[in-house]
Amino acid sequence: MKVGFIGLGQMGSGMVANLLRAGHEVTIYNRTPSKAQRLVEQGARAASEVADACRGDAVVTMLADDGAVESVVVGAKGVIASLGKGAIHVSMSTISVALGERLTVAHANAGQRFVAAPVFGRPEMAAAAKLFIVAAGAPDAVDACQPLFAAMGQKTFPIGDQPKAANLVKLTGNFLIAAVIEGLGEAMALVGKAGVDRRRYLDILTSTLFTAPVYRTYGDLIVEHRFEPPGFAAPLGHKDIRLALAAAETLRVPMPFAAVLHDRFLTLLAHGGEALDWSAIGQLAAKDAGQENQ
Ligand code: NAP
Repeated sequence: MKVGFIGLGQMGSGMVANLLRAGHEVTIYNRTPSKAQRLVEQGARAASEVADACRGDAVVTMLADDGAVESVVVGAKGVIASLGKGAIHVSMSTISVALGERLTVAHANAGQRFVAAPVFGRPEMAAAAKLFIVAAGAPDAVDACQPLFAAMGQKTFPIGDQPKAANLVKLTGNFLIAAVIEGLGEAMALVGKAGVDRRRYLDILTSTLFTAPVYRTYGDLIVEHRFEPPGFAAPLGHKDIRLALAAAETLRVPMPFAAVLHDRFLTLLAHGGEALDWSAIGQLAAKDAGQENQ
């Protein structure tokens, strides 16, 4: 397909490389232009402005947050003003349910199609084309995106014709991951302070009842204190819990655990954790227990 791609961060750069590998014609745009260079060497065409990335069948956005997405989508030279009739905006960032709703309406008013397709999987999975993609939008639009999803992910899960449903599934998934990180951090603080080997403890957990990848991936990061460089930065994790709570507020769904996690991220950020991986909240319990080096 002829596709534009906006956002060449940790996730976007690997996703573009896989689109190119699968034979798609990709025009890329990034706020910081230098990040495009390596992908141009792999066959991408660099656009100097957003509008130039909107001339194809679809344009993918993979940007940090709501503010970043709005800054490229609205305005005289933004995605909505530049995309052709019937063309598709595929939003793969983790954004709010409210913005998912607003984009659905705005694209429909402009005669364009909108698909929300957020992903599960860290940058190494993006680079390996192993993402899990949760896609929602009009069935014809989701179907039209399948060649793109097949190039970037290992499996796509359609979740209906309301794009905002995909945004909500992604946000609640990240709420669950953060809850696992906090739970692991507390359990490891306790066994660690008691003198139990934390690596051995994690091996027992992950070879018995806790065999899911989320326990292995985040357990390893916590045991090894591997919070730098961040695969998923703490401010983005904080953003996702905030957005899950916003959706919960709108739907009148109390989520007390989410409120605790929100505070944990605030603590991490208040203590200089901006540049750490979000899994660094898994270290807070040990610090609270006076085990700075655990
Ligand atoms: P990242 O490495 O921080 O990249 C963020 C991208 O957004 C960069 O291209 C950045 O441009 C751009 N951006 C930020 N603010 C902007 C603004 N105001 N205007 C225009 N562009 C702006 O983030 P990432 O890890 O790739 O994550 C991207 C999205 O995927 C996020 O929504 C995140 O929640 C989601 N996600 C991440 C992971 C993960 O493990 N990393 C997993 C699943 C989903 P510059 O290069 O100019 O800064």
